[in-house]
Amino acid sequence: LLFDLNNFDEVNDHFGRAMADALLVEVAARLRKSTRECDGIARLEGGEFAIIAARDIRPDQIRSLAKQIIDVMRAPFLIEGREIYCRASIGIALAPTDGLDANQLLRCVDTALYRAKTRGASSIQFFSANDDEAAARRHALERDLASALANDQLWLAFQPFLNLGSDRICGFEALLRWQHPTLGAIPPAEFIPIAEETGLIHGIGHWAAKTACLAAAQWPRDLRVSVNLSAVQLKDKALLDGIAMALAEAGLEPRRLEVEITESVLISDFEGAISLLQSWSFLSITVALDDFGTGLSSLTYLRKLPLSRLKIDRSFVQDMLTDADCAAIVRSLIELAHELRIKVTAEGVETPEQLDYLRRVGCDEAQGYLIGKPIRIDDIHGTAAE
Ligand code: C2E
Ligand code: CA
Ligand code: CA
Ligand code: CA
Repeated sequence: LLFDLNNFDEVNDHFGRAMADALLVEVAARLRKSTRECDGIARLEGGEFAIIAARDIRPDQIRSLAKQIIDVMRAPFLIEGREIYCRASIGIALAPTDGLDANQLLRCVDTALYRAKTRGASSIQFFSANDDEAAARRHALERDLASALANDQLWLAFQPFLNLGSDRICGFEALLRWQHPTLGAIPPAEFIPIAEETGLIHGIGHWAAKTACLAAAQWPRDLRVSVNLSAVQLKDKALLDGIAMALAEAGLEPRRLEVEITESVLISDFEGAISLLQSWSFLSITVALDDFGTGLSSLTYLRKLPLSRLKIDRSFVQDMLTDADCAAIVRSLIELAHELRIKVTAEGVETPEQLDYLRRVGCDEAQGYLIGKPIRIDDIHGTAAE
């Protein structure tokens, strides 16, 4: 079994090495207690521990052992007077099914752990040969993404926003696309996490912002352009300068640029995010909170952040006509946002009925396949925008 304390780096960054090490000691103690029948336990790197179970243990017994480990980690750790919650994942490989030598098994268990982590905290994954394929694809993508920008494989699609007051298109969101030479179109949900983990997101994000500004400068009227920023980018001190340069190069007025951020940014470093967002508004770039309602959305965000817009997540729009609770959430969010002088965009609008409803409850803008799918930049002139 490969156990990983997912928030080891976070604790390390936030509270320092001593605190992270103290947490590891406690984690190891709980691990030892719940793995008494096992053959051995060893700390690997970061928050990872390898646990070797007895030779004659059955897979279902291993699963319950893993469950038990996850369970004992649920109680908070009290470290230097602080309560720290541990998020853990476990990968499992079996001998002789998955391999016989230690190296092979380690590779399998590592792949299994990787998949457990992508499935979220507290998950347990057995290795399977499919994982191996997935890992191979990931390695290939990781390798090729590094040169994708230089090889002109990345491009931006633009998806329109409809202003519900004027019934006109009022802007476009830039969405990254990767056309891989042999694997075809790779979805952003697959390659953006890779870009974030490898740090490639900085270069790619800068390119996206610049390209979006250059495009918007060519558009008719005062159309807005929205650019997505990931949490990793917001931690980059050079980001603001990069954006200011992109605006200047394109000759685009800052108020026509909006950045979309998600809540995950705010959870990890709220104070840092506030001061960063304030510097954005100083530049008169507006900020939208994306996918609102999907994460640990807090109303505090709405009150404390210099936000111009809230984007209600597609999942709410999808269910609001069939689920009264969902409709109530959409209505109240719009009302609340307006009280705080924040505009509301509903995303994922696919039917005329949904659009009607959003109009009736006073939503400001709508986005979704009904209004327009993400399209190539050359198509904007002469279509929706005019
Ligand atoms: P997002 O920002 O929430 O973008 C909206 C996603 O929903 C897009 O998927 C869009 O194609 C899709 N969508 C729009 N309207 C509809 C609809 O009516 N129905 C349905 N079913 N889907 C709709 P896409 O392009 O695959 O992007 C996925 C995510 O990737 C984005 O979610 C965003 O988080 C991220 N992303 C895309 N471009 C960038 C970028 O340049 N930088 C960063 N950091 N993230 C990006
Ligand atoms: Ca977005
Ligand atoms: Ca969104
Ligand atoms: Ca969304």
